[in-house]
Amino acid sequence: MLATCRTTTHSPAMTASMFREGEGLFDFTLLDDVSHRGFMDNLELRFQKGLIYTNVGEQVVSVNPFKRDLPVATVSMDDYRNKFMYEVQPHVYALAEDTFRSMINSKRDQCVIITGESGAGKTEASKIFMRYIAHVSAASAEADAIKERLLQSNPILEAFGNAKTLRNDNSSRFGKYMQLDFDYAGTPLGGQISQYLLEKSRVVTRADGERSFHIFYQILSQPSLLSSLGLVADPSQYQYLSLSSCYTVNTINDGKDYNEVVQAMQTLGWARADFGYVTQILAAVLHLGNVQYREDVAKSQQTNTDCVEIVDKSAVSAVAKLLQISPAVLNAALTTRTITTGFGARKNEITVQLDLAQAVFTRDALAKELYHRVFGWVVERLNDKLKVTSGYSQVRIGVLDIYGFEIFEVNSFEQFCINYCNEKLQQLFINNVLRSEQEEYLREGIEWTEIDYFDNQPIISLIEGQRRIGLIPLLDEACLVGQSTPRDLVDKFTNSFGTHDHFDTASSSRDRHLGPSDFRIHHYAGQVVYSAELFLEKNRDQLNVDLIQACLGSKHRLVTYLFRDADKLLNNKKRPETAGFQFKRAVCDLISTLQQCEPHYIRCIKSNDLKRALYMNRERVDHQIVYLNLVETVRVRKAGFCQRMHFANFLRRYKLLTTSTWPNWYGSDYDGTLQILNDLGIDPAEYRMGKTKVFIKDAKLFLYLETTRAQ
Ligand code: ATP
Ligand code: MG
Repeated sequence: MLATCRTTTHSPAMTASMFREGEGLFDFTLLDDVSHRGFMDNLELRFQKGLIYTNVGEQVVSVNPFKRDLPVATVSMDDYRNKFMYEVQPHVYALAEDTFRSMINSKRDQCVIITGESGAGKTEASKIFMRYIAHVSAASAEADAIKERLLQSNPILEAFGNAKTLRNDNSSRFGKYMQLDFDYAGTPLGGQISQYLLEKSRVVTRADGERSFHIFYQILSQPSLLSSLGLVADPSQYQYLSLSSCYTVNTINDGKDYNEVVQAMQTLGWARADFGYVTQILAAVLHLGNVQYREDVAKSQQTNTDCVEIVDKSAVSAVAKLLQISPAVLNAALTTRTITTGFGARKNEITVQLDLAQAVFTRDALAKELYHRVFGWVVERLNDKLKVTSGYSQVRIGVLDIYGFEIFEVNSFEQFCINYCNEKLQQLFINNVLRSEQEEYLREGIEWTEIDYFDNQPIISLIEGQRRIGLIPLLDEACLVGQSTPRDLVDKFTNSFGTHDHFDTASSSRDRHLGPSDFRIHHYAGQVVYSAELFLEKNRDQLNVDLIQACLGSKHRLVTYLFRDADKLLNNKKRPETAGFQFKRAVCDLISTLQQCEPHYIRCIKSNDLKRALYMNRERVDHQIVYLNLVETVRVRKAGFCQRMHFANFLRRYKLLTTSTWPNWYGSDYDGTLQILNDLGIDPAEYRMGKTKVFIKDAKLFLYLETTRAQ
């Protein structure tokens, strides 16, 4: 069990002054000049020295160095054990120690919210955090097995959920909240992973130079797997992979990563057969992409509608064989659609031919759905293996590694959802930072004047609609009308929000840069123009009835399991929930979980877009500092009290500064603290004595105490 009292042995990290010449300030709250420039200069100075972490009070700002062998990466975790953040150089380890200690001491659930743009280092930071927790939490044969499973779930999640993008060779294409369960003594008992909004469209389309999910390339790298799946090793043979003309990544070894995934599955005790079923479905997805259509001229003339036929039936046969579906049924589901009219005895089914665009849409919808369901199943299996089976879970630490705010050339439904989620997290951040400060001052009986901040509630209400109508409910409403067009949707938005401060369309703003199916939201992090073109389809997110029926008729064990709820979908009179509605509910649930936890923040910054080692592009970093509200955070922190310390800790750390307390002080910790401050002649306006802690107003006093102590 982690000792809750601190040792007084001085580690190298601790005896050295926290203020090292030429290394800049380890905490931004110590800045005299709390300006954007001052912040940036300190960040850059430290970064150039390889010091990628800097604190803002109890938060850690982390700059991605794109370099693995820096000294910060090799420091001993043990140097951080039982240390407060102000006693050690900034590090994710220090924050992890703080989180773990807070959980043990307060018996409250903790969460770590990791934010930043793609490639800023969120996933790496989450892994460093987990490693530290695994290192310091109590050990036993059982606990060690749990820790191993937690760590091993990463390669599996990354194989299925990550991909090479233009921004990041290992980009997480889903949001992840990983919770760890502990007993009162801090022994890990299990965990749970929640996943959000997998970018399933990546299976069928993506930007040039990007790849699909890693797992596809990993499977193709294994000669022993190929023949039974009817595959060849060359990824360019598969339309779904060849469309972005990128197959290999120089920082990725697919063969090696595949072995790691298999190793992880073994550690987690997965049945070999299960992975076999997964590879069959993934191979079916690749074959599905090779189902190519052409217009069926004879049939089109005969029926007087556009009809398609499949060019080469072998791809359909391969899919049918792997998914154990009748080839005829699959062929029909990929080229026609059944429409039901009337009710009861008058119920009538007619078969409608798909035109080329509809056929391609249907094929891609099946590929996306299969992959999405496989991913959900993988996470379910991981959760089975992490389930708490013995002991009683008392407290939890959750780690949120979720996509940052996104602005692309063309922003669609996915960016809308992601940016909405970021608005919610921003609101939580502001509430947390201010609320926790204010609560602490209240608890300690310290006077405090409230600080003004930008409240993004109007943007959240605009999107989700609280009491009033919002963009998500309006989108759902438009989806009910079969013939709605993107323009209808934008008109609907304009009617309700044409005069909203945070919303514009072409007709509401007369901005000629906006097209008739565009709308713009003024997000807290910047303005984003969304193209409503595919919003309706993406929000409906429905597989057609024929494909559902085809999958329901499958004899494949995993396909049957993945579609076990699909017959409900067919028989259910109620409309299925839309993607937007489900996402909103998931985000609101996540936020309410996070609200119940004591929060900790890691704010990640991407140093440059070239992935160049230890190179900082000031312009790129500038923007991130603004949108992460970092300078504001420092200001808020400084407007209150920049440092606070329990009396006992203050006494222990600074008693060597005066002869009245050194070497021993026999009075109370409160009196000892006051004695030191009096002896040093500190102006009482510079600090406040709370009920359990002393609050230091200005960073300069802290600086003075620290430097005097180090002399
Ligand atoms: P995304 O939102 O796309 O998932 P991310 O914020 O999770 O991005 P990471 O995948 O964690 O970004 O980091 C991108 C890459 O940057 C890593 O693969 C690694 O090469 C490098 N990197 C990130 N953090 C560090 C670090 N602390 N030390 C060294 N390299 C790092
Ligand atoms: Mg990531």
